[in-house]
Parts: sequence; C-alpha cells; structure tokens
Amino acid sequence: MSWKHRPTCASCPIPLPERACMNRKGKGPDNCPTLMQSELKDQALAAQNQADTLEFARQASLQEAAGYTNRDLGYSRLQPAKPRIQETVELAARMNYKRLGLAFCAGLVGEAEVVQEILETNGFEVVSAICKLGRVPKSKLDLAQSDHIDTQAEEETMCNPILQAYLLNHLQTEFNILLGLCVGHDSLLMQHVRAPCTVLAAKDRLLGHAPLAAVYTYNSYYRCLKQPLFPAKDKESDGS
Ligand code: SF4
Repeated sequence: MSWKHRPTCASCPIPLPERACMNRKGKGPDNCPTLMQSELKDQALAAQNQADTLEFARQASLQEAAGYTNRDLGYSRLQPAKPRIQETVELAARMNYKRLGLAFCAGLVGEAEVVQEILETNGFEVVSAICKLGRVPKSKLDLAQSDHIDTQAEEETMCNPILQAYLLNHLQTEFNILLGLCVGHDSLLMQHVRAPCTVLAAKDRLLGHAPLAAVYTYNSYYRCLKQPLFPAKDKESDGS
C-alpha cells in the first residue's frame, strides 16, 4: 500500500449507509481499504480465527448487539440500553472470566472503589492497581522539581503504568479495565500488559473525563481547535 493510497476513512466522501464497508453493494473512494486491501483483510481474519480471539470477537459482537433495545423494530427504532460499566461486566461474564484487573488513576480513587465493588458484586475476583504504585520519584524520569505538578514539592511520585501492567500480568488477570489513566501512561500499560484491555473512562481533567465534549463543541466553544496547536512546527514540516 503506498502512502498516497493510505486509508482516510474518517473523511470518506460516501454517505455512511452507502459505503463499501457498510453495504455489500456499497462504494468507496480510490483509497478505500475495504475495496483495496483484501490481503490484509485475509490476514486479519486469520488472526481472528485463533481460538481465543475468535471467541472474544464473537462475544464482543454479541455484546454490541445486546447494547440496544427494539432490535426487532428496525434500525430507525434502535435505542441504547446499557451504560458501559454494565457492558464491561456483561462481556467479562460472557467470556467466563474469573479474575479482572482494574488499573486506575489516583485522581479517580473514589470511582475505582465503586468500580471494584460493582465487579465484586458480580462475582469477579479483582486486582486493582493505582497508578502511583511503587512510589518511584519523578527524578527517575530525569525530571526536575520545576517539572512536578506541585512545584513546591521536592519529591513527587511518578505514574507507573509498566508496574501496573506487571502486577496484573503476575496475578494472571484475564481482562483488564483501565480507569482514567493519563494520555501516554495508558499507552505504556497497554504496551506491557498481557491480557486484553478495555477503557472504562479516558482521563480528561478539564472535561470530567468526557474528552468528546471538546469534539462535540468544535464549532462553538472549542472553535480554537481549528487553529494548529503548534503553528511554527507545522510551518517547519511544510518546509516553508
Ligand atoms: S472502508 Fe472504504 S467505504 Fe468505508 S469508510 Fe473507509 S474508505 Fe469509505
């Protein structure tokens, strides 16, 4: 696949119901990966056909459908039926998981306690791991006191997502739930953890952990995002 033909599904010009990925007789643009990437599609299907993955994919799809009521009344009458926490519990139960990991941010310690209680109420064993595990100072990241969140504090504990992952791996959790981890710390955890993960909430300090609020208001309160955050950098990469 050439860079010129890289997928740009997010700006596909075809109306959604008429797209090749949605409709057997649908259309796609010149760079449509549904129409062009049959080899990769076969490879992805082969990966999905590994026994564990296939079952997980099947159950995730069943869970997706179970997230609606009125399915017998047609697409236009569909109604969402379940919050994500319920769907998370249901998917774990569908998979017959016994032991779950809960990797959470210290900033959501109260929410983590509730989530652990909900999981335990549903019969799961829960390993919960706070982000500040191990109390490793930020100086280990070559950070100065001026880089601390609290610049008055001589020592500040770093988030330790790799240790969170190692702990969950060590205790052989079967499915991990991420709750409010920082941008980047979540990446490190996902890179190092063995069992599949789902994100219950993505951290957004400003927007009450609802990051899409800025996207929904892109044409009003967050119109400032229409300007590049780093204009000088953009110019550099343009070569201008
Ligand atoms: S897969 Fe093809 S049809 Fe579907 S969104 Fe992407 S480009 Fe459009």
